[in-house]
Amino acid sequence: MNADATRKIRLIMYLREKGIHSTDVLRALEITPREAFIPEMFHDQAYEDLALPIGRGQTISQPLVVAHMTQALKLDPMHKVLEIGTGCGYQATVLSHLCRRVYTIERHRPLFENANRTMDELRVRNITTLLGDGMKGWPAQAPFDRIICTAAARREAPYELLSQIKEGGHLVIPVGEPGDQWLYRFTKRPDGECTKEKLFSVRFVPLLPDIARDSEEEALATRDPELMEMAV
Ligand code: SAH
Repeated sequence: MNADATRKIRLIMYLREKGIHSTDVLRALEITPREAFIPEMFHDQAYEDLALPIGRGQTISQPLVVAHMTQALKLDPMHKVLEIGTGCGYQATVLSHLCRRVYTIERHRPLFENANRTMDELRVRNITTLLGDGMKGWPAQAPFDRIICTAAARREAPYELLSQIKEGGHLVIPVGEPGDQWLYRFTKRPDGECTKEKLFSVRFVPLLPDIARDSEEEALATRDPELMEMAV
């Protein structure tokens, strides 16, 4: 067995010990090659439980957080799911193994293009991507059975996201300032109101409005040129 396969098995066993009891979620992580989504310089850490840089100041979440959030969604193979924050496309690909279709939105063009390329190479066919502001959701495709947001809302879950969940559906989203962020699961009741459960403490990059402008892209590109070259 090669080193990657051994590390991967060790990671799956660790996720199980840490409370990931869904065999479907464990299998989805097992069949998604995390190294394909990260810059080559981090390949030896692909199966460590670490968040890693993916360029533009953003990170791929650590596997345990991806697994917990995926499990918290309680997916069904028929579900239509919206993800906010495509990043490198890893979480979207994990979701694609567990539901009918994933819609995913990213605000940085270089990350959006890179994620599309990786998912194409991996021949993932049930993901639709959009370069846009995910805080507005995806009204043309709404409603969704499930919505997952992989960037943290400062104060509260955006109303647009709550309004685009189907009755009985969930929104899983981190909320709070850096240092005091919690993962929440919202559930839409038949009367249209949402109930809210506090799940656990997390650390995410912030949910920001609008598509990143050229000036923002340039500032970020000069901050980590080496990483950007490798990531995008
Ligand atoms: N799910 C990603 C994690 C990415 S980190 C993965 O598997 O790699 C969070 C991402 O959210 C970043 O790429 C960031 O650019 C993006 N983001 C932040 N605010 C956003 C918004 N309003 N709309 C879309 N994407 C947003």
